[in-house]
Amino acid sequence: MSTDYIIITNTPEETKDLGERLGRLLKDGDIVCLYGELGAGKTTFVQGIAKGLDIKEGFVASPTFVIVNEYKGRLPLYHIDLYRLNSLSEIEDIGILEYLKGKAVTVIEWAEKAEEILPEERLTIYLENPGGGKRKISFKGKGNRFTEILNGLKEHAEHKH
Ligand code: ADP
Ligand code: MG
Repeated sequence: MSTDYIIITNTPEETKDLGERLGRLLKDGDIVCLYGELGAGKTTFVQGIAKGLDIKEGFVASPTFVIVNEYKGRLPLYHIDLYRLNSLSEIEDIGILEYLKGKAVTVIEWAEKAEEILPEERLTIYLENPGGGKRKISFKGKGNRFTEILNGLKEHAEHKH
C-alpha cells in the first residue's frame, strides 16, 4: 500500500486542525485507523476529528479503563482506544464488530491490535514524533472512498495558501 499524503505539523493545534479537516469530510460507515507510539498525537488528532464532526462538548482523552467513547455530532463518533487490550478475544468482547458496522464514524487508536478483523476499506494514518514538537502524519487509503477523502484533504491544503 502506498503512502498517499504526508503532512508535518508543528504544534498540537496544527494536528487538531488537520483532524478537524478530515472530520468534516467523513461520512457514516467510515473507519479511521490510527497507528503510532504513546504520545505520538493520536488522541489529539481524534479531538480534531470530533470538532470536524460538530461534536461540541465532552471530548475526553481516553481516561483510564475506558476503551470506547461515543459522541453525538453531525454523525455519531465511536472513539476506540485498544491500548489496554491484549488479545483479539478481548477486542471482540467490546463489540468492535458492531461498532464497525454502525451508522457512525469509527476511529481506532492502536489499530494494529485489531488488524485481523478490520475491513479492507479504511483510512490508515501513521503518526510519528521526529522531535522538536513536530509530528509526521502519513495517510494511506484503500478503495474509492478513501481516495476521495485524501483528494478532499489535499484540495483543502492547496486552497489554504
Ligand atoms: P497518543 O494518543 O498518540 O498517545 P496524545 O495525543 O494523547 O498521544 O498526546 C500527544 C502529546 O504530544 C500531547 O501532550 C501534545 O500536547 C504533544 N504534542 C506536541 N507536539 C505535538 C504535535 N505537533 N501534534 C500533536 N501532539 C503534540
Ligand atoms: Mg491516545
